[in-house]
Amino acid sequence: MVNKNEKIVDFGYKFVKKTEKQKLVNNIFDSVASKYDLMNDITSLGIHRSWKKNLINWLAPQTNQTLADIAGGTGDIAYMFLNAGGNSAHVYDINEEMIQIGKQKYRNINKLYWTIASAEKIPVLDNSFDRVTMSFGLRNITDKNKSLKEIYRILKPGGRFICLEFSHMENEFLKKFYDLWSFKIMPVIGYKVTGDKEAYEYLVESIRKFPTQAEISQMLSVIGFSRVRYRNLSNGIVALHSGWKF
Ligand code: SAM
Repeated sequence: MVNKNEKIVDFGYKFVKKTEKQKLVNNIFDSVASKYDLMNDITSLGIHRSWKKNLINWLAPQTNQTLADIAGGTGDIAYMFLNAGGNSAHVYDINEEMIQIGKQKYRNINKLYWTIASAEKIPVLDNSFDRVTMSFGLRNITDKNKSLKEIYRILKPGGRFICLEFSHMENEFLKKFYDLWSFKIMPVIGYKVTGDKEAYEYLVESIRKFPTQAEISQMLSVIGFSRVRYRNLSNGIVALHSGWKF
C-alpha cells in the first residue's frame, strides 16, 4: 500500500514507493545477470553492439583519457573505450552480480577497474574523469536528475558525457512493428532464456516511460552541460545524448 505522503515513482507501468524502486531494479539484474549478455544479443538481434560502437565512435577516445562508465554492468563500454585507445576505464555499478560477470569476462584486460556504487552517489572526487558514459543505465535509476548531476560533478572541466539509452521512434509505421516485437515477442523470449518474464516486461515498459530525446536534452542543459546534442540510432529505438562540462 502506498502512503499518501510517500513519494512514488514509476517502475515500468506500475507505481512504487521511491524508496523501493532500487530494490526492485536490483532484483531484476540479480535474476538476469548470468544471461544478460546473451539476452542483449537475442532481444536486439545483436544490434546493441553496433549502438555501443556508435557511442565509442562519437566519444573518439584519446590515449590520455580516463573513463568512468556509470551503471556499467558487465563492462562492454569500458572495454570498448580501452580497445579504441583510451587510457583507463572505471566501471561503477550498483549490482555485484553484474560486476562479477564483467570481471570474469574481461579478466585479461589491463587498466579496467570495477567498483560497486550507486549512480546517485558516485564515490569519486569532483573533476576526476575526462569522459563519462552511461549505457542503458539511466532508465533504471530512481532519481535520474541526481545521477546526471553526479556525472557532471565527477567530470573534469573540458570533459564530456555520452549517454546511450532506449528512446522514442520517429516513424509511426515502424513503431507498430517495434511495439509488436517489444510487447509480444521479447517477454516470451526473455522468459524462455532467463526464466524471468517480468524482467522483460519491465524492460519494455520502462522504455516507453522514459523521457523523450528533447526532455533528456533539456535535463542535461538545466544541469549545466554545454553543447548538448543527440543522435537517433535505428530510427530512435535508441538515442545517444552528448554534453560537455566547460
Ligand atoms: N551498461 C551496461 C550495458 O550497456 O550493457 C549495463 C546496462 S544494464 C541494462 C543496467 C545496469 O544499471 C545494470 O547493471 C544495473 O545493475 C545498473 N544499475 C541500476 N540502478 C543503478 C544505480 N542506481 N546505480 C548504478 N547502477 C545501477
